[in-house]
Amino acid sequence: MRDQLKIYNTLTREKEFFKPIHPDAVGMYVCGPTVYSDVHIGNCRTFVSFDVVYRYLNYLGYKVRYVRNITDVGHLEDDADQGEDKISKKAKALQLEPMEIVQQYTNGFHHVLQLFNNIEPNIEPTATGHILEQIEMVQQIIDNGWAYESNGSVYFDVEKYSQSNDYGALSGRKIEDLRNNTRELDGQSEKRNPLDFAIWKKANPEHIMKWNSPWGKGFPGWHLECSVMSTKYLGETFDIHGGGMDLKFPHHECEIAQNIGATGAAPVRYWMHANMLTVNGDKMSKSKGNSFLPEELFSGNNNVLTQAFSPMSVRFFMLQSHYRSTLDFSDDALKASEKGFERLTNAIIALDKIKVSDASSVNVQALWDAAYKAINDDFNTPLVIAALFEGVKMINHLLDGRETINETDLDSLKKLFHDFTFEVLGLQIESKDTSSNNIEEGLINTLIELRAQSKAEKNYAVSDLIRDRLNELNIEIKDTPNGVEWSKK
Ligand code: AMP
Ligand code: ZN
Repeated sequence: MRDQLKIYNTLTREKEFFKPIHPDAVGMYVCGPTVYSDVHIGNCRTFVSFDVVYRYLNYLGYKVRYVRNITDVGHLEDDADQGEDKISKKAKALQLEPMEIVQQYTNGFHHVLQLFNNIEPNIEPTATGHILEQIEMVQQIIDNGWAYESNGSVYFDVEKYSQSNDYGALSGRKIEDLRNNTRELDGQSEKRNPLDFAIWKKANPEHIMKWNSPWGKGFPGWHLECSVMSTKYLGETFDIHGGGMDLKFPHHECEIAQNIGATGAAPVRYWMHANMLTVNGDKMSKSKGNSFLPEELFSGNNNVLTQAFSPMSVRFFMLQSHYRSTLDFSDDALKASEKGFERLTNAIIALDKIKVSDASSVNVQALWDAAYKAINDDFNTPLVIAALFEGVKMINHLLDGRETINETDLDSLKKLFHDFTFEVLGLQIESKDTSSNNIEEGLINTLIELRAQSKAEKNYAVSDLIRDRLNELNIEIKDTPNGVEWSKK
C-alpha cells in the first residue's frame, strides 16, 4: 500500500509517488505558530491538514519524526524585515515578559489542538532555544559567500544566489518581477539589493529580545529558525515540509536559499502547502479582523453563529474539503457538516446492531479500495468521507434487511470505519453535549435570545430583568454594533 501514495509537490507542481529517503522512516517538518495571539480556526485548519498526513504515514507503518516549531522570536510585523517583533510588541503592550506571552499562547495552542484531537509532534523546538545553532548557520552562510554583514545585521545575498540558483522556484515567482516590485524602503539602505533578506538583525537599544553574536547584539531573522531546526532534527535533506500556502513566499523560498547557502543541499523532497480558510472569500486573518477563535465556535458565542459546534463537527467540516482547496467558513456550512458528522457517527454506533448472515450481498472490499484510492491521491479526505458515506448507506441497508453480510465482511466493515474515521481522519465519537460548561453556555445564550426578543417586542421590563439577573451572576452583556456579546466579569 505504501507505494501507492502520491503527494502533490509544490516544487515540481506535480503529484509524485512518495518515496522517503529511508525506506521505513519519514522526516516531516511543519511551520508552527507565532505565539503572540490565540490561534484562529484558519491556523487550526492547516494543523489539522498536516495531522491527517502524519496519521496516515503512521498508519502505513512508517516511523515518522514529526517536527513542528514554535516561533517565539524574529517574526516581525510586516512578515519580512520591517517592524517590531510581534511577541515583543505584545509583551510591551501588556507589560509582561516576552516569555510570558510565549507561554500563554503556546499553552492555548496546545489546548485547542488537543480539542481537535491532533496528535502532538515528536519534537516541538523553539526559535529562542536554538539561538546558538542559528548564529552558527549565519556564520556558515557568510563563510560560504552567500551573506554579508552590514551595520550589525547580516543579509542573504539574493542577487548573488540567483545567479546560480532559481530563487522563486517554489513560489513560482520570477526574479525580474520581484526586482521590479520591490521598492527601497526606509532602513533597507544597508542592504546591497532590495531583495536581500535579513538572517540576523541588529537590535536597537530598546529591543527586549536580543543575544550576543559575532555581529553585535541582535536576533535571528524569521526564516532562519526553520532552516536550522529542520536541519538539526531531520538532516540536511529530509522528506516532507509543510505549512500554509501563505508561507510559500517569502518564508519557504528563503528557507531553501538559506539551506543551500549553508549546506549546499536542497533541504526538502516534498513541499506541501495547505490552502486557506476563508470568510466570504477572504483569507481569515487576525489583521483583517475576520478571524474566529475555536472557543467561539465551541461556545456559539459569536453573533455570526446561530449555535455552538463541537470540536469534531468542526474537524469534520475541515476534512470535507481537500487541503489544497480553499474552504469558506460559514454558519450554514458548519451546520451541514454537523448533520453529516452525526449521520456518520450514528451509522458507526449502529454497526454493532447488524446481524450476520451466511452470505454477503454487499461488497465491502470496494469501500476499502475507494477509501485507499482517495487517501493515496494526495490525501483526498473529501473522497475518503464519500467512501465512508457509501458505507453508511450499506449499514442502513443491512439494518433494514435489504442487504446481507457474513461475519468476515462485517469485521472488515467495522475495521474500515475504525481505521479511516478514527485513525486516519482523527475523528472521535463525541458524547452528547452535557458537560456543565456547555449547559451553562447554552443557557446563557438562550437567555440572551429571550432578551433580544423582549426588546424587539418593546418589553423592556423583561429584557432589563434578564440583563440584571445575569449581571448579578457576574455575566456582563454588551450591545455592540455587531450584536450582543457576553463575558464573565
Ligand atoms: P502564523 O502563526 O501566522 O505563522 O500561522 C500559523 C500557520 O497557520 C501557518 O502555517 C499559516 O500558513 C497558517 N494560516 C494562517 N492563516 C490561515 C488561514 N486563513 N487558513 C489556513 N491556514 C492559515
Ligand atoms: Zn517556518
